[in-house]
Amino acid sequence: AITPTSKIWMNGEFVAWDDAKIHVLTPTLHYGWGVFEGIRAYETPHGSAVFRLTDHIARLYRSAKIYMMEPDFTEAQFVQAAKDTVVANDIQSCYLRPLIYLGYGEMGLNPLPSKVESMIAVWPWGAYLGEEALEKGCRVIISSWRRNDVNITPPAAKATGQYLNSSLAKVAAIKAGYDEAILTSPTGHIADGSGENVFIVAGRTLITPPLTDGALGGITRASVMQIAADQGYEVVEKHIVRTDLYLADEAFFTGTAAEIVPIAEVDDRAVGAGRPGPVTKEIAEIFHQATTGQLDRYKTWNEFVAD
Ligand code: PMP
Repeated sequence: AITPTSKIWMNGEFVAWDDAKIHVLTPTLHYGWGVFEGIRAYETPHGSAVFRLTDHIARLYRSAKIYMMEPDFTEAQFVQAAKDTVVANDIQSCYLRPLIYLGYGEMGLNPLPSKVESMIAVWPWGAYLGEEALEKGCRVIISSWRRNDVNITPPAAKATGQYLNSSLAKVAAIKAGYDEAILTSPTGHIADGSGENVFIVAGRTLITPPLTDGALGGITRASVMQIAADQGYEVVEKHIVRTDLYLADEAFFTGTAAEIVPIAEVDDRAVGAGRPGPVTKEIAEIFHQATTGQLDRYKTWNEFVAD
């Protein structure tokens, strides 16, 4: 269950956690027309730092553009509000959830005349796929639910309603006894986990699906691509199919909530040795050092809340 903090930022003001309420006729609740982000702040030797906050807010505004919503705040103001929310809750390390949604006022399938509202909440959130998945790797199933297609609900946006797709896949995977689901594109290529990007390792090469196969442009994905290139790996974006996962040396998920999680099994087949491999461990360790402000090379990724 979620651990409440004290204050939530709503439309430029802080309200008490329990008072952050909306009307039941808020169109976003009925039609899923809202956009959001998932961000993490980390404790570093120089205070709390939000990981690549500016990039996350830029993606939030791209999602808002796709759904034709103009918030009352500039991107820079939103970035500042996110930092302020961490400070206001006196928390070092946490998950941040900004949401841009449509407020009460209109109904029907053109909800756009409604007022555009904004909120940011923060709370402590541990390993999304569990500590055991981090240590031993997770067990994954290729879902029979297909990933949102560009002409259905565009995977380039993180829209609330689109996550019905991810949730259907996630719930089915959990009920079948797996930890996570991987969804495919309309052409049958590997797209994404329900809330993570997918990588496979083949020798000294890292391969991840292109955005045109429905992968979200993950901030963790981009960070891992940079780290891997800096470590001398070849990094390529290309189509992969389920058997590429079965036959990979290693595979792992990347995502803000999940961070970097080794994939031990896909469809009941061990990936590589069926436990976290050396490349995954190396990248995960560097990513951990980067998020927690221990690496000069990646220090621009640490956006300090007190700055
Ligand atoms: N794919 C999907 C479908 C997601 O929901 C997420 C989480 N935002 C990701 C990938 C990973 O993106 P990021 O690294 O930016 O969190």
